[in-house]
Amino acid sequence: MKPVGTWLAEEPVVGPVQRGLATILCAVLLLSAAFLTPHADRPLPPLPGYMTAFCAAMLVTNLLLALLLYSRGHTEEDPATVQLGSAYFFVAAIFLPLAAVFPDAIVNGSLLGTPASAVWVWSFWHAGFGLAILRYALRVRQPRGGPTRLGREVLAVLVLVALATALSTVWMELLPPVFVNGRTFFSGPVEALPWVLLLIDVIALLAVARLKDPTPEQLWLTVGMAAACFDVWLTFLGSDRFSLGWYVAKQGSLFTTMAVLLSFLHALAVLYRRVSTANLLLARLVNQDGLTGLANRRRFDEALENEWRRARRERRPLSLLMLDVDLFKRYNDRYGHLGGDECLKTVAEVIAHCVHRPADVAARYGGEEFAVILPGTPLAGAFELAHRIRERLAAQALPHADAPLGRVTVSIGVASLVPTGQDAEQLVRLADAALYRAKAEGRDRVCGSDRASPAAQSA
Ligand code: GH3
Ligand code: MG
Ligand code: MG
Repeated sequence: MKPVGTWLAEEPVVGPVQRGLATILCAVLLLSAAFLTPHADRPLPPLPGYMTAFCAAMLVTNLLLALLLYSRGHTEEDPATVQLGSAYFFVAAIFLPLAAVFPDAIVNGSLLGTPASAVWVWSFWHAGFGLAILRYALRVRQPRGGPTRLGREVLAVLVLVALATALSTVWMELLPPVFVNGRTFFSGPVEALPWVLLLIDVIALLAVARLKDPTPEQLWLTVGMAAACFDVWLTFLGSDRFSLGWYVAKQGSLFTTMAVLLSFLHALAVLYRRVSTANLLLARLVNQDGLTGLANRRRFDEALENEWRRARRERRPLSLLMLDVDLFKRYNDRYGHLGGDECLKTVAEVIAHCVHRPADVAARYGGEEFAVILPGTPLAGAFELAHRIRERLAAQALPHADAPLGRVTVSIGVASLVPTGQDAEQLVRLADAALYRAKAEGRDRVCGSDRASPAAQSA
């Protein structure tokens, strides 16, 4: 199994399904653009509220995506992701003045500026977003790390949006006139403007499309940029409000954001799944002995303490087996430590196989010593289990050339109490003393503690 740490930190990869889906969507965008090109300026009935809904959707989705990217970039100390966040924060921020200048978006007519202001804010939006994506594509090629400058990014976006708003409204005379022929968006001195905006978006699209080994986010950013080009193209061809091109272009704008937002949310869902699986795995590892897979000493101590208290409350017997592999030092000396490890694993398997009740805890106590906690089990039951383990191990007949019987054996100490005091360790001391007696009496046997009934002590 891969180490949990590296597994969690693994970068998400683009699978064939995502790549195929992205390719299909790009093809759909291209075909739609080709199909709509001759019909883009067809006027359609005005849909009241369409622009309001569009502005609200753009504001919310872009702000959400910007916050997600900012927080991830900041946490991972990744300046490129913070810069990508700024691109979407710029769009969210510029939709406030756009909604204010756009006719009928918030009130009848415009809250701010003239109808030409909407053309300018729209142009600043596309120029700014395309350039911001280009900046991201250049930054992401550089090595990760370095200061993220989140505060400066946010401030710069707000200043740029304020400047674009001022230029599009109160300082509009500084810009060349639009609407020179009264209807067409881009004519006269600004005729080339949409071509410049399209060029910026196409360059940004190529810059992200050419990133090597793209992450899913970068793949979907490429699709998003294709949608941005689609948007500029159809807005330009639609040339007026409520034309077919104008309506469809708005969907392109939304898709520019949604493509990346959905990929981000998908990555989050994958991450949640990984984190919860890793948590389960960690919780198990923390309580498990690495070599044998039995409970470790930490879990044993915890379980003994809990079961002691439970048995005292319920006035029920609590039994404990302590097992020690006989002459294990000799085993190691003959078969090597790796051979010794294999032997310990087999002994652990035998123990685990004999222990059935859900409350029973079989643990590696340390070295070649094992322990089994048996809640609600009287001494006779504990003896029965101890004998079963000993006999089952004998049946395995693991060779031990330096042992008297020529096979691996264990000595087992059994103790049982109905707990009264606070000291759970007295049960360990009793079982340990019994184990000592089993060793002293010749090994390969089961002995009960002094406090066990003599009848039950027979080996
Ligand atoms: P006895 O029958 O009296 O228990 O004799 P013994 O040789 O088993 O006891 P001793 O305590 O002298 O030796 C225990 C040995 O267990 C020594 C130690 O190197 C070995 N041991 C402890 N932990 C591990 C382990 O994780 N892997 C291996 N291979 N050996 C271990
Ligand atoms: Mg020992
Ligand atoms: Mg031993």
